[in-house]
Amino acid sequence: MKKTYARLADGREIIYFDEADSAVRPLTDSRDLPPFQLRPAVRHDVVLDEWVGIADFRQDRTYLPPDDQCPLCPSTDDRLTEVPASSYEVVVFENRFPSFATVTADGLKALEPPHQLFGQRSGVGRCEVVCFTADHDSSFSALPASRVSTVIAAWADRTTSLSALPGVEEVCCFENRGKEIGVTLTHPHGQIYAYPFVTARTQRMLETARSYRYRTRRNLFADVLAAEQRSGERIVISGDLWTAFVPFAARWPLEVHVYPHQQVPDLPALAAAERAELSQIYLEVLRRMEAVFEDTLPYIAAWHQAPVRVDRDLAYLHLQLFSIRRGPGLLKYLAGSESAMGAFVNDISPETAARLLREAGG
Ligand SMILES: [Zn+2]
Repeated sequence: MKKTYARLADGREIIYFDEADSAVRPLTDSRDLPPFQLRPAVRHDVVLDEWVGIADFRQDRTYLPPDDQCPLCPSTDDRLTEVPASSYEVVVFENRFPSFATVTADGLKALEPPHQLFGQRSGVGRCEVVCFTADHDSSFSALPASRVSTVIAAWADRTTSLSALPGVEEVCCFENRGKEIGVTLTHPHGQIYAYPFVTARTQRMLETARSYRYRTRRNLFADVLAAEQRSGERIVISGDLWTAFVPFAARWPLEVHVYPHQQVPDLPALAAAERAELSQIYLEVLRRMEAVFEDTLPYIAAWHQAPVRVDRDLAYLHLQLFSIRRGPGLLKYLAGSESAMGAFVNDISPETAARLLREAGG
């Protein structure tokens, strides 16, 4: 695989990932853009002990532009986009409207003097866009497995690079798909967030895993995977190196977790054979999810990776795929119980969801 590093007109980094070593991509961007200088902040919610990103400049970001104004399509002679190349396979670049960004030394500092209840720091980190294909009308599930392999390689590569940035504590690769989820661009793409903190969900999972290890001397995630494999009731796909299942207490109408059989902390730690099988299984899970309801499938796919610095022995890489679709024409919204109280109620039993997924396209 060939990587080509270049800079956009405002200084942001862009990286092309190509299957063939012979690929040639442009190194310049002839647009006239103001310098990229954004200073997002993070504030500490002292009541929940969670960090919240504050990035008010994101309100100006491009929202559902017409297809002929898509900023993620390749550039043409008539129209220059975010991607200077006339074509590409997989391309990653820094988000123009990031929730976290590499901030210069004069960026936001903690409040002086430090306030016990109002903790604030620079939103140091990075947000990247990952375009999966130059084809505006395609989707992840329509990609050939070879392209999914390139996407996986790009995720792993970026995880390694972003983990090395000062201040970055966790890296999440994810895809939001569908306007019902809040996607502002329809071109097939995902994002990578490099956070300046360990996210609340990861922290909670690792605390639970730590207490489980203390009690049993075993790994919680590995035991959950083994229990699902033994039960079989919620298994969607069992591969040689990966298993996809609906979790016992799934929160979403369609939710699938995909685990490698060997515990690894993150995507860079996967062996070649694991990556190869993952590209097949990822596509199969997505295609089955899309086939369950006769309607579009808005979904979120997110990689749970180990934090950069802590608990790497405890964490267990896995993919969480879920949809807010609960039937044709029906969506599950997070309302009072879920949004205010964090108490989910799922309208489809996990066993039913697993059966629907096994029957779909099987
Ligand atoms: Zn496009």
